[in-house]
Amino acid sequence: MSAPIITLRNLTVAYDRHPAVHHISGTVERGSLTAIAGPNGAGKSTLLKAIMGELRPAEGAVEHTLARTDFGYLPQAADINRRFPMSVLDTVLLGAWRNSGAFGAVSREDRNRARLALQTVGLEGFEKRHIGALSAGQFQRVLFARLLLQDAKVILLDEPFTAIDARTTRDLIDIIHNWHSDGRTVIAVLHDFDQVRSHFPQTLLIAREMVSWGQTEEALSPANLLKARAMAERWDDNAEVCRPDTASTQRPAA
Ligand code: ADP
Ligand code: MG
Repeated sequence: MSAPIITLRNLTVAYDRHPAVHHISGTVERGSLTAIAGPNGAGKSTLLKAIMGELRPAEGAVEHTLARTDFGYLPQAADINRRFPMSVLDTVLLGAWRNSGAFGAVSREDRNRARLALQTVGLEGFEKRHIGALSAGQFQRVLFARLLLQDAKVILLDEPFTAIDARTTRDLIDIIHNWHSDGRTVIAVLHDFDQVRSHFPQTLLIAREMVSWGQTEEALSPANLLKARAMAERWDDNAEVCRPDTASTQRPAA
């Protein structure tokens, strides 16, 4: 296949020196469509933020030759403030900052592209609406329009379909397929294994550590899924014994 666009070398990311994901190694190929799957608390969002450069590795490295502006990133919905008083069009136009600069003027061309992006996500006529007045699905369409405007080479999506209606999910999956056909690299955190199997050729399965990374069918084999679940149960046990008052009884990590 083609060249790696992102390489993880023995990557460990920690919060206050507690590793959230550790010792992950592998490559993302240019133009690939990769799902990141794993149990709750597996470190999926943490890994995405490390790839974005928002979190620094505690150990190892994320290697790529891209600029920060080459990345488009959609955080998990819970991390996005929707009460900010902004119109749909202005929210989409935030995707144009690469051209206009953080405080630069928005060009007429940017506005036209933003309107076109809103058409593409099925929100023609919504330009002046307040983002706080949209349904979860409509708001996610707006954020995809913003990504369209941004025109990034690598697109990172964190649980883009959680709490999103089926119709919107289908439309947004179409957009992901279009990005893939354009040769962009897409990495998405997903928890719906059927969605992963149907649409994502590559999968990285993690449970704090890497369980598997490769062709989706193999990466999500029953044996690998069992392994991920067993690892998740083990770290729940550890969480119990890691409280400061019981630190002396802490078991060594498996
Ligand atoms: P996932 O996205 O797979 O559910 P996360 O990457 O959000 O997992 O979290 C992995 C682990 O790191 C969890 O134990 C979580 O509690 C912890 N964690 C996540 N964010 C922070 C943070 N900002 N500070 C401290 N711990 C965090
Ligand atoms: Mg997450």
